[in-house]
Amino acid sequence: MARYAMVIDTKRCVGCADCVVACKLENNVPDGFCRDWIVEDVHGAFPKLYMEIRSERCNHCENAPCVRCCPTGASHIDVGGIVLVDHDECTGCKACIASCPYDARFVHPDGYVDKCTFCVHRVKEGLDPACVAVCPTKCMHFGDLDDPDSEVNKLLRERHYHALLPEAGTRPKVFYLT
Ligand code: SF4
Ligand code: SF4
Ligand code: SF4
Repeated sequence: MARYAMVIDTKRCVGCADCVVACKLENNVPDGFCRDWIVEDVHGAFPKLYMEIRSERCNHCENAPCVRCCPTGASHIDVGGIVLVDHDECTGCKACIASCPYDARFVHPDGYVDKCTFCVHRVKEGLDPACVAVCPTKCMHFGDLDDPDSEVNKLLRERHYHALLPEAGTRPKVFYLT
């Protein structure tokens, strides 16, 4: 069984938002919403400042509060550890939205809660997620943490990285190379 993850190189990301546009087109994300977004984080103190640019989305957490709190089972961990929402089972109660420390979910105009799916429909076809596939700087990588030879594992062995809000205890599976 795979354990899918994303590794994103913040040194290569230029904040072009092609990943955001690709996601909207691939997943028919309605106007006014997005499943991924760009964050520009400034660190340090003047004159030694640096900016980390990140493409963020659902972290497909291994210890996902959105799954634990869902009263209907709509939010679940699916094949490869991908966190998904079964639209037919979702009542739109928003408990998962309140529990997600990453603000990764939104209410779709059709009434169910939506978010990044790691493009599971593409992954099942052996393709990279749309955002990964279009990135012009090739800063995004997708693969299996359980495969020691995967590119994501190689990058995590060779580079410094961080994940978002580790103190939340969610064990996110989107990693940012620094
Ligand atoms: Fe759930 Fe939020 Fe983690 Fe995604 S990032 S799995 S929505 S807690
Ligand atoms: Fe579950 Fe839907 Fe409620 Fe979220 S909004 S907790 S997915 S029933
Ligand atoms: Fe959107 Fe797919 Fe990328 Fe998730 S993996 S942000 S659904 S394009």
